[in-house]
Amino acid sequence: MGVEPTHFEVAIVGGGLAGLTLSIQLAKQGRKVILLEKEAYPYHKVCGEYIAMESWGYLESCNIPLSTLNLPQIRTLQLSSPNGNYLTHTLNPGGFGISRFTLDYLLATEAKKMGVVLLEHCKVDEVLFKDGHFWLESKAGKFTADFAFGAYGKRSNLDLKLKRKYTLTKQRGANNYIGVKYHIQIKHAEDLIALHNFEDGYCGISKVDLDRYCLCYLTTAANLKANENSISIMEQRVLHQNPHLKRIWHEANFLYKEPLTISQIRFEPRTQIENHIVLLGDAAGLITPLCGNGMSMAMHAAKLVAELLPDHPKDRAMFEKEYQKAWQQTFGIRIKAGRTFQSLFGSSRVTNTVIATLKTFPPLLKPLISLTHGNKF
Ligand SMILES: Cc1cc2nc3c(=O)[nH]c(=O)nc-3n(C[C@H](O)[C@H](O)[C@H](O)COP(=O)(O)OP(=O)(O)OC[C@H]3O[C@@H](n4cnc5c(N)ncnc54)[C@H](O)[C@@H]3O)c2cc1C
Repeated sequence: MGVEPTHFEVAIVGGGLAGLTLSIQLAKQGRKVILLEKEAYPYHKVCGEYIAMESWGYLESCNIPLSTLNLPQIRTLQLSSPNGNYLTHTLNPGGFGISRFTLDYLLATEAKKMGVVLLEHCKVDEVLFKDGHFWLESKAGKFTADFAFGAYGKRSNLDLKLKRKYTLTKQRGANNYIGVKYHIQIKHAEDLIALHNFEDGYCGISKVDLDRYCLCYLTTAANLKANENSISIMEQRVLHQNPHLKRIWHEANFLYKEPLTISQIRFEPRTQIENHIVLLGDAAGLITPLCGNGMSMAMHAAKLVAELLPDHPKDRAMFEKEYQKAWQQTFGIRIKAGRTFQSLFGSSRVTNTVIATLKTFPPLLKPLISLTHGNKF
């Protein structure tokens, strides 16, 4: 007879911001939680690493002592078009910079301290709902749980296993993005986040901890393909058309040997529940980085889950309904607005015109910026 798998009240797949903050909150409620993460902390991640102030209090409530970390406070936005024309605008309340290397590690350390069973290097291959509870198959063996959460980010093997609708449609040019990130050292204002547009993409730069800047861009896979599938050729031919980016590449000290990259990023709508697995963070729906703060949304979704999770699995149906409703109420408009906003950027011609117009009528910029930042939670 085989050994029975260990049973947990809650199993969370994916230890990024959504999974880690959820695990901490649920452990605080006294629940028995397992969190399975395929990587090992600390590690670098493709992300712009600018966090909107709306998350500050929430992260502190997860026992992350942000105010002692001397983090850069970012209060000014610079937006440039591919032709180099730019505008600046005050961000109120703005955000702060912290690398994912540091933040995810701090959260993982806290989760373990709170009693979460956090397994690293532990990829989950299958999550099945059977006989009223979940069966998880992972690199570390099998587990069962009353509730299972998918916090596994923008793209995971599990989406294919679950045959999620968005994976069944073909990826097309404008819906197939890549992300590229560097950490650099450069002379650049500490309180400034700059978003520099180029043909078919945009690149952000802002300060993080570790005395460095995060330089991160998003572009279409088609752009890379059109440039011999070479990141450096694409950067020289396309990104450097924007004089601000050309200067950054010329002056910066690049701290990684190779850029960090991710591919197959898709922004189509997604469902928040699949076969009773409750999804949060990017797994539940992605917002383009230009239009919103995915990290804050991931943590905010964790808070929604923690507040709604019932004590007993018999209340599963009600929980699923309430969560979906809360998710749509909190993020639905923001994500839809983000898609519209995104369409204003991309082609050089349109972006040059949009930025020239915003420069002439600065009051137009304020509502656009407020769409990308949410309220404290
Ligand atoms: C180019 C780019 C720039 C961005 N810049 C910003 C920014 O400046 N500010 C901002 O707020 N947001 C930004 N975002 C968005 C932000 O990065 C995400 O919204 C946020 O990381 C989502 O958190 P998450 O917890 O859902 O997913 P993630 O942080 O991606 O975590 C998911 C975790 O799941 C793990 N995982 C996946 N599959 C499995 C499996 N099968 N088993 C076990 N573990 C698994 C992964 O290893 C990962 O650690 C950016 C995104 C991109 C692409």
